[in-house]
Amino acid sequence: MKVAILSDVHANLEALVACLAHARREGAEEFAFLGDLVGYGADPCACIDVVRAHAACGAIVLRGNHDDAALGGLWADMNPVSRESAIWTRGRLGDAEREFLAALPYVVARDDLLFVHASAAEPKDWEYIAGTVAAGRCLAATGARIVFGGHVHQPMLYFSARDTVSAFTPRPGVAVPLSKGRRWLVLGGSVGQPRDGNPAACYQLFDGVSRRLTFQRVAYDWITAATKVRSAGLPESLARRLEHGT
Ligand code: ZN
Repeated sequence: MKVAILSDVHANLEALVACLAHARREGAEEFAFLGDLVGYGADPCACIDVVRAHAACGAIVLRGNHDDAALGGLWADMNPVSRESAIWTRGRLGDAEREFLAALPYVVARDDLLFVHASAAEPKDWEYIAGTVAAGRCLAATGARIVFGGHVHQPMLYFSARDTVSAFTPRPGVAVPLSKGRRWLVLGGSVGQPRDGNPAACYQLFDGVSRRLTFQRVAYDWITAATKVRSAGLPESLARRLEHGT
């Protein structure tokens, strides 16, 4: 059974639709959305609609910090661009969208897999895993063999063996066997707002039988997505980010 894992959609409908179509062509039958469905992008309600339809068919859907912010949970250290987009997003959501976001869990465990938006250590603290120390903290907080997370918008793979945590930069399209002898933390990058210098959308495919993981990059119509951001009156930097992947 192949699972498609999509994180940080950020209200980018063009990227979301392109990734889902790609995943289906690659044989994905299950889906997991790891939070930050909204925020930054211009299509929060349309993206929630798409994700909600997948949830109705059994998909895992988590809550991210930008989903929290759109519900009114603005936090003090939010930067001005994030705050502006959160306020804009909050104004677009109806009751049904708010109810859907408010009911989302922070963590889901399934078999020996754990799905979380930020870190398994303190999921509601929204820690950015920026290196092996934070990755180790995340892995130490759970007994799961594989943790799937998002939040940092840059694809990265960490693994631990005998208490040592190592980092590995994955190559798109190249399957990595996640051996059972190690524990793994998969940070998949962002569907709707990549920040690693490549504007193509990120998602991953995990084969639960062979335990092989493939990071995917999907070219999509980021010109349209950026144009919508500008037309919505959202900060110009958010449009430029989509065009440049930075
Ligand atoms: Zn995000």
